[in-house]
Amino acid sequence: MNKFWKIISISALIFFIAAISPVKGAFKADSDEKTFTSMRKGMVNKQIIRRGVRNEDVIRAMMTVPRHRFVPKGWVLMAYDDTPLPIGYGQTISQPYIVAYMTEILNLDKESQVLEVGTGSGYQAAILSCIAKEVCTIEIIPELAEPASLRLKKLDYQNVKVTCGDGYYGWPEHAPFDAIIVTAAAGHIPPPLLKQLKAGGRMVIPVGGPFMIQNLILVEKDNAGKITTRNLMSVRFVPLTGKHE
Ligand code: SAM
Repeated sequence: MNKFWKIISISALIFFIAAISPVKGAFKADSDEKTFTSMRKGMVNKQIIRRGVRNEDVIRAMMTVPRHRFVPKGWVLMAYDDTPLPIGYGQTISQPYIVAYMTEILNLDKESQVLEVGTGSGYQAAILSCIAKEVCTIEIIPELAEPASLRLKKLDYQNVKVTCGDGYYGWPEHAPFDAIIVTAAAGHIPPPLLKQLKAGGRMVIPVGGPFMIQNLILVEKDNAGKITTRNLMSVRFVPLTGKHE
């Protein structure tokens, strides 16, 4: 082969490799997604079903929502571990079991209007949105609220509304709510949230001092508006912050 044909064939080879590399990238992304799906399946079986979560809608949602898309890049490989993970600004995405357990306790159906206080990464809101009619979620830290809102939009969770503000005061424009979930520990049950809970509605909220063991409380409002509370388990959440403290 003379020099001319050598140059031509090397150039053609380089061109061919460059042309197929995006396809190779697509195969890689595809196999990554398969790995995450199998990690998610393991998480649901070992951490959720084995610990007693039975609600099929909750199990389906936990099986569907890509938790690895809600954690910072450096934590992606731990996204399906049995632990909360840091999401920046001193905040965390809750442990998968706690997300599933709190969701199950709310007794949601496809007509439910839900309020979440503490959007964080948006993961809990995504889980709720797979079951409920609409999810309104409030985050006090703007640097978390905005990316969570964009992430939920990008992943096409169309029935979630995100706002930045102090969730202690609820979201009166979208009240009353069939269910309220608070994902940060409050010193007491916020009266504005009790007011925005529908008759027959349920709220789940961790109550207790910051960075101590807190009680996860189920609050029920009966059809006559009477409130009852029940202690479900000990938990450890980041504190509910804001001016009310
Ligand atoms: N649900 C979140 C998720 O799925 O990633 C995790 C929530 S993290 C445990 C608690 C969140 O509550 C934090 O993002 C924190 O900034 C937020 N928060 C604390 N006090 C708040 C308040 N008064 N109003 C709204 N959000 C608050």
